[in-house]
Amino acid sequence: MTIIENADLLKYNTFRLSAKARRLVIYDNVEELVDYLQGHREENLLPIGQGSNLLFTGDYSGTVLVSNMKNVWHDEDLWTAESGVVMDELIEQTILAGYGGLENLSHIPGVVGAAAVQNIGAYGVELKDTVEKVDALYVPEMKVVTLTKEDCRYGYRDSFFKHQKTGTFIVLSVSFRLSQHSELRLDYGHLKTEIEGEPTPLKVREAVVKIRRNKLPEVSEIGSAGSFFKNPFVSVEQFEKIRSQYPNVPSFEQSGMIKIPAAWMIEQCGWKGRQMGGAAVYENQPLVLVNRGCATSKDILALSEAIQKSVKEKFGVQIEPEVVFI
Ligand SMILES: Cc1cc2nc3c(=O)[nH]c(=O)nc-3n(C[C@H](O)[C@H](O)[C@H](O)COP(=O)(O)OP(=O)(O)OC[C@H]3O[C@@H](n4cnc5c(N)ncnc54)[C@H](O)[C@@H]3O)c2cc1C
Repeated sequence: MTIIENADLLKYNTFRLSAKARRLVIYDNVEELVDYLQGHREENLLPIGQGSNLLFTGDYSGTVLVSNMKNVWHDEDLWTAESGVVMDELIEQTILAGYGGLENLSHIPGVVGAAAVQNIGAYGVELKDTVEKVDALYVPEMKVVTLTKEDCRYGYRDSFFKHQKTGTFIVLSVSFRLSQHSELRLDYGHLKTEIEGEPTPLKVREAVVKIRRNKLPEVSEIGSAGSFFKNPFVSVEQFEKIRSQYPNVPSFEQSGMIKIPAAWMIEQCGWKGRQMGGAAVYENQPLVLVNRGCATSKDILALSEAIQKSVKEKFGVQIEPEVVFI
């Protein structure tokens, strides 16, 4: 276990913003985590992964917990990975072992523990499609609990965990039901056209990585937290109103509601590529806000608020951040 007081969080957020945590604790196994928490009954606990969905708006006055638990094992098609495993490395490992199911989620930054909280999704697939169960530490009683997929109450970038006080549940491991004969999902975007010959999970993964590399900033090169906003859902009535003014509005019907890509609305408002202070709207994907190298959290907040305001004014739709503000 490593404990750092007054820790620099620059390495722990992909926006590459400077912020400090009063304490940073990196634990290697559950026993260390429990020992630490029993010895330090603290109110403000913040479990994080790679910080690829976080915006530190200032210093954090509590304790940041980082999992260094990295074991992966499987019993036939039931794969379990500990919270600190890099999600993309798990996907590669499962595919190379002949198991499909996670390939569409390739190249999304972050670790397994966070992925189960976020219900990450891409190219028509969400983490929940393969999750079987999640083991978590329930901190108030300091006991390990198992949540089934149903217990996790997954929704669009949403889960049961997101509705609890931060630090109440700390995800320890996630089990996925994968398959050696999985049905491939190729019906999203131009995924199909990127694949030559008979599709396999490996070919899907390679196609997804290629498309994402063209469209999204590499976190090793440009500071960002991926999609800054969620795609909004509107009623059919509201959608028809928007369509009467903007006949080309793209849309996806889902459970009686209409999803409109926030990226399209942001682009229509003229934000693509624009910069405010050190923060900018990424030129290849307007849903992504980037740090041009010198951004402060204030710059990013100001830009995001300005975008929300103009989308609201133009379309009457409130877009909400996907990024978690700390
Ligand atoms: C370039 C880029 C592209 C992206 N593309 C996508 C995409 O296509 N689809 C998508 O869904 N997301 C995408 N994201 C967002 C991000 O990668 C995901 O949300 C990812 O799951 C975050 O993982 P992380 O390890 O960085 O978690 P963090 O950002 O560190 O944490 C995310 C949340 O999980 C909580 N958390 C972390 N670990 C634990 C734990 N062990 N127990 C309990 N809670 C925990 C944190 O408190 C926080 O609320 C992208 C981000 C970037 C930078």
